[in-house]
Amino acid sequence: MIYATEAKLSSRAKTLGESASAAGFAELQGYCASESPLVRRVAASAIGKLAGVVSAKEAVATLMPLLGDGHPQVRQYAAKALSAFGVEAEAALLVLRDMYRNPAEKDYVKRSIKSAGVIIKEAVATRDKAVVHICSRCGVRVQPDEYARSQRFFQRIFCDACFDETATTRRNWETKVEDKKTLKTLKGTLVQSAGEKQVAEWLERNNIVYRYDGRLKIIEGFQIRPDFYLPERDVYIEYWGMDTPRYKAGMYLKQDLYMQAGKKLVSLYPADLAKLDAILGAKLEALQA
Ligand SMILES: [Zn+2]
Repeated sequence: MIYATEAKLSSRAKTLGESASAAGFAELQGYCASESPLVRRVAASAIGKLAGVVSAKEAVATLMPLLGDGHPQVRQYAAKALSAFGVEAEAALLVLRDMYRNPAEKDYVKRSIKSAGVIIKEAVATRDKAVVHICSRCGVRVQPDEYARSQRFFQRIFCDACFDETATTRRNWETKVEDKKTLKTLKGTLVQSAGEKQVAEWLERNNIVYRYDGRLKIIEGFQIRPDFYLPERDVYIEYWGMDTPRYKAGMYLKQDLYMQAGKKLVSLYPADLAKLDAILGAKLEALQA
């Protein structure tokens, strides 16, 4: 598939996933059969985001075959998406277990398989009344599907009402962030500052897969939005570009949270930009050792 078509289709699939509407579901099902692995991956992820909106049975039936996809990232995103459907994805547990036991499976795929399995199993236990889960925001008892969906997307437990409110706040904030991204890297990623552009282009030149400004992650109850995430290494990169006392206080807090959560973080500062080969290259290498 030519690059422009692939970029257009995957951006379309992403938009449908964020639409919170079932209208684009059939179209997304079609994209799951695309010849492009990127389009299949984004479509799978988008279907997961529509959990609670589209028919869970049909969604699971669409996602299950992608667990056998030839591309690891498609398998990874299919597993993540399935977990959002909780008990409806119970049948996927056996497949996930086999994938997890397969020595040829990539480590980063296994990590996603494991978290997906935990969410689905816990949703099943909630249904079977073995476990009671309470909304962390308003305290009501949640249903298994509420449990699975909120764990998948917020790593927290929310009832549907609190899920929707939290999701809306987050979407508004993401729109604001999107507006600030105006600089384009070599490979076409839009970033917010010249420093981030240099870091992104260094990663691109070294063929390191990255996600820029990924989804919010909750670490120890705080919302963290990493600048760069390297999925194949499970490493975060933060570029700390400012020098005000307030910014620095936030920086120390965030660095601390990464450490407490046992996440691998590379911190970069303005002075590092002139020698990224030496500094970023060495820091990444040290983390792989
Ligand atoms: Zn609630």
